[in-house]
Amino acid sequence: MAKNLTTLALASLLTLPLIGCMTTNNVQPIATKPFVIDSETYQSAGKSQRIKFIVLHYTVSDNERSIQLLTKGKVSAHYLIMDNDDDKIYNLVPEGERAWHAGDGGFAGRTILNDTSIGIEIVNKGIQPQYKDALKDSELDYHPYKHFVEFDEVQIKKVAQLVQDIAMRYDISPKNIIGHSDLAPSRKIDPGAKFPWQRLHEEYGIAAWYDEADKQFFMKETQLATPTIPEVKQAFRDYGYQINSTAEWDKASRDVIYAFQLHFRPLKPTGQMDIETYAILKALNKKYAGRDDFY
Ligand SMILES: [Zn+2]
Repeated sequence: MAKNLTTLALASLLTLPLIGCMTTNNVQPIATKPFVIDSETYQSAGKSQRIKFIVLHYTVSDNERSIQLLTKGKVSAHYLIMDNDDDKIYNLVPEGERAWHAGDGGFAGRTILNDTSIGIEIVNKGIQPQYKDALKDSELDYHPYKHFVEFDEVQIKKVAQLVQDIAMRYDISPKNIIGHSDLAPSRKIDPGAKFPWQRLHEEYGIAAWYDEADKQFFMKETQLATPTIPEVKQAFRDYGYQINSTAEWDKASRDVIYAFQLHFRPLKPTGQMDIETYAILKALNKKYAGRDDFY
């Protein structure tokens, strides 16, 4: 009995280092004493935050289903705002890790936004059930304002607190606080026409909004001289939208107009270019001119 135990103990001693080597890919110690990382003596001036965007979404589901989707599957978000009237904001993915919420698309010259954004999902059904199929048998290409579901007041307050905090910590530019539709206009329409961007800007200083006087000025200017389609498309590009270079308003280009209107002219999102839409775009470009760092 005693002999068996000794044999077992010896066998363990012999096999343990072998297992260790296999699991660490044969990594050998470099020095007997580890080298020291000195983070104090020298510091680089040229640097910036990795997080550059906040992307807002709605879940198209209720609380229960949203939790299922965002915790069990291949879709996720850093934060989830449910529609309970309580004091909770749920953090599902640590901010230092990537959440899988943005998908294909781009904004402000960057693509693969999961790398550089914080994603916030808000529980909201999106399109009201009676309008779900409204585009199928009608002249409508896009859902108008009244088809969308309202957000609860408590959700807006939670979004305001969360976005304010994240934007401040990462020094995020107001125009880089966007909706999913802004970065993927042909795939997504969330957070929809009833997400109150203007109110968030005016009441809480969050995200971008144009000045009314600038809009009026550019409306007059546009009435005097109609811009060409390439000029209008360039203005979209200047603001950050990805848009093609065709000299027509094809479906993909109209999707960009619609995404822009959902965000900045939510009461009348048509997917058609008009003077007011262009004037708002010009007013935004005037106010938020300049590019982010691209080093
Ligand atoms: Zn989304």
